[in-house]
Amino acid sequence: MDRFDSDPRLSIIHADMDAFFAAVEVLDDPSLAGKPLIIGSPGARGVVSTASYEARKFGVHSAMPSVEAMRRCPKGIWRSPRGERYREISLLVMGVFGEFTPEVEPLSVDEAFLDIAGSLRLFEGAVSLARQIQHRVPEVTGGLTVSIGVAPNKFLAKLASDLEKPNGLTVVDPDRVQQLLDPLAVEKIWGVGPRTRDVLHDIGLREIRHLRQAGVDLLMRHLGESSGRHLWHLAHGEDTRTVESHHEVRSISTENTFARDLTPGQETEAFLRSAAEEVAQSLRDQHLRARTVRLKIRTGSFLTMNRSRTLDAPFQDPGRLYRVALELLAAVDLAGEGIRLLGLGAGNLVASDTPRQQGLFDDISADLRAEKVARLLDQSRNTPGILPLERGCLIDPPQQDAPEKDSIGESSF
Ligand SMILES: [Mg+2]
Repeated sequence: MDRFDSDPRLSIIHADMDAFFAAVEVLDDPSLAGKPLIIGSPGARGVVSTASYEARKFGVHSAMPSVEAMRRCPKGIWRSPRGERYREISLLVMGVFGEFTPEVEPLSVDEAFLDIAGSLRLFEGAVSLARQIQHRVPEVTGGLTVSIGVAPNKFLAKLASDLEKPNGLTVVDPDRVQQLLDPLAVEKIWGVGPRTRDVLHDIGLREIRHLRQAGVDLLMRHLGESSGRHLWHLAHGEDTRTVESHHEVRSISTENTFARDLTPGQETEAFLRSAAEEVAQSLRDQHLRARTVRLKIRTGSFLTMNRSRTLDAPFQDPGRLYRVALELLAAVDLAGEGIRLLGLGAGNLVASDTPRQQGLFDDISADLRAEKVARLLDQSRNTPGILPLERGCLIDPPQQDAPEKDSIGESSF
């Protein structure tokens, strides 16, 4: 186990495929392996899209005019980009990332940010998780490699993934961020393009340490208030941007931070009960059923864990949501810590008029009964002049004799 694997600050990964387009071409035509391969059109107005590492040795890089690339690497082998094929492989790669966390933000076809805060415990730490990604990507794609940066935030993760390409794994020590940043050239900062670089060079700032020493006022004067301040924070290794994932499958969820840390018991049960009602009502309002129950737990020390279970048949019933949530919570190892936040969600949504495939052991009639009750409650709430009904006992008691025979796919998400 890596010493960083116990550090919960390492919660962001940037994963970047190595020379992606060129690597896919080699994958489909192994005779290209080891050759200076250039993806792009070699015409007078063409631009290099990707160069293999062999071509990069000649100084060819992406966005370079093809004419210049041909001059630098006359023996380069040219291939036209095949966008369709790259997207196909991209889906496989993004799918691998999704095996490790639902919080995946693709930046382009071949790179993504992953928020792994909720997966650290399940995959035994950030470095171990990153190694497993590096193992899975070639396994799933047939041999492509990925470079990974592991860091406390997006900026540092993106910077790190680029430091040891190809097939690199770079961990940013959260206690030595400044030592890493200080000697680097300013253009290593994500977002500092040639124009900003020139402005910075003009005022004598070439390394990240210079930005820090220059002070925020000087940077704001030359780059504008917002860019200057942003850059100053980055130069200190500070970046509060979050990973913006767009789940392919929508989910409905609610969460609550408690006034004090709770141990599992009456209060957590009361929250889950009302959360289940709330989520189920959302499902009914939107005419949806869910197949997956998601539980999010954050402990007093800000360790975040996600647990989920996917059931055989789609459901809409708050009682079922509640019972599965209770079971998921009971299975979580809190290591003696209190619960600071709980979230309950329903995922894998389908339209509620989708025909239901009856699970072998599902008591569908009970489910349908519960849903009918819920609909009646909704009707009473929405009908003016009628006092809204409330459940006597909000939720059915857990079934003692009929344990759920769901396919239990518990994972980090
Ligand atoms: Mg790449």
